[in-house]
Amino acid sequence: MNLVENIFKAGVVGAGGAGFPTHIKVQAKVDTVIGNGAECEPLLATDRQAAVHFAEEIVGGLKLVMEATGAEKGIIGIKEKYEDALSAVSLVLEIVSNITIHKLGNYYPAGDEFSLVKDATGRLIPEGGIPLNVGVVVNNINTLRNIYFAHQGTPVTNQIVTVNGEVKNPMVLNVPIGTHFRDLIEICGGVTTEDYTLLIGGPMMGRISDDIEAPVTKTTTGLIVLPSDHSYIVRKKRPLEQDIRWSQSQCEQCRDCTEFCPRWLQGHSLAPHMAMRVIDYNLDSEPHAKTITSSMLCSECGICDLYSCPMNLSPRIIFKEFKKRLIADGIKNPHNNAELQERALAGYRNVPKDRLLQRLEMERYDVYPKLVKEEINVGKVKIPVQQHIGTKAEAMVKPGDIVGKGDMIASIPEGKLGANIHASISGKIESVGEHIIILKQ
Ligand code: SF4
Ligand code: SF4
Repeated sequence: MNLVENIFKAGVVGAGGAGFPTHIKVQAKVDTVIGNGAECEPLLATDRQAAVHFAEEIVGGLKLVMEATGAEKGIIGIKEKYEDALSAVSLVLEIVSNITIHKLGNYYPAGDEFSLVKDATGRLIPEGGIPLNVGVVVNNINTLRNIYFAHQGTPVTNQIVTVNGEVKNPMVLNVPIGTHFRDLIEICGGVTTEDYTLLIGGPMMGRISDDIEAPVTKTTTGLIVLPSDHSYIVRKKRPLEQDIRWSQSQCEQCRDCTEFCPRWLQGHSLAPHMAMRVIDYNLDSEPHAKTITSSMLCSECGICDLYSCPMNLSPRIIFKEFKKRLIADGIKNPHNNAELQERALAGYRNVPKDRLLQRLEMERYDVYPKLVKEEINVGKVKIPVQQHIGTKAEAMVKPGDIVGKGDMIASIPEGKLGANIHASISGKIESVGEHIIILKQ
């Protein structure tokens, strides 16, 4: 069986958070494949620890993708600051000639594909484009690891997750997919604050939740426990109407949101301060349509609201709302400029991670959690049938069925985009719902 089939069968998706089915990505023809080990989100150590402990598998996966895509060059992007990760990967690369390490600065968003591709190859991805437009495929390094295993016939059953914040012992855990957040917290010694809210993913692009019974999926990179009265949580819970009201009364049009926007710095035609102007003056018609449609170019990286705005406003939320409405109206992104000119100060406007942590008021959680290398055993898992971009997988099991770890329990209908789902522990199927399959040891 070829690599594409193996990856499809194994249910590999982008493990860095995107969840795009990987078997589609590796069918491209490119000259360069980049392994993304930048891990620019503060407080996470998922990729860094993966690089330290699974360098061979990561390099093995990268080689396979290079072979499949015809790429002559492989690059692994790792932060210069992550010396342990660098030395582990360098050791494996000593006998490999066509894969190099690209050392990245300790800034956010170094792991954003547009920034990483520019940093590692000098190429600017067009507006609304993807790395493929400039001859590059980018895979998170944990995806590469999953690709390596997939080619050996091992499906995706586990996920590496950083547990940090208000827990007794922050750790990086290798857990079965479907593990409840409650279990992760218990393994880490429990919560150290009374009233808390969960942050799933990193602080910049993650989402908050109160659902402690929710499961780890193929795209969960982190679980950060924060006090519910933390300024970050209060801000995240702010209703849209309040954001709009505050924007109308407080935006001083200083342009800082635009001056630090990574996409604007790459020459894209979005300017967050203009989005605020549109919303401030109810300018929702021509000639402001361009500002509104430019929301399609926003990566929702969060720099404009969590870092640059001195007034604590959120152009990101406004862009997100514009985007939602455009999509609902069936309007597609009209911006596709490929002749980009990087702004003059682009190289000086990277956001240092330490300063970002200060701004987020999260310095006290800036520890370096280590991986518990042994796979964690849990008695019950709750496996969503959609953990990826595309169509929901269809259940192949019924309550009472006995399954082994790695057995396929939900599959993607022929010809549809998606990823197969496998049992992450051995046991008995307890229930099969529209969205979740529950499996017990
Ligand atoms: S940084 Fe804040 S105050 Fe300044 S233009 Fe942007 S939204 Fe307005
Ligand atoms: S979230 Fe803000 S800073 Fe980030 S791309 Fe969108 S507009 Fe630019």
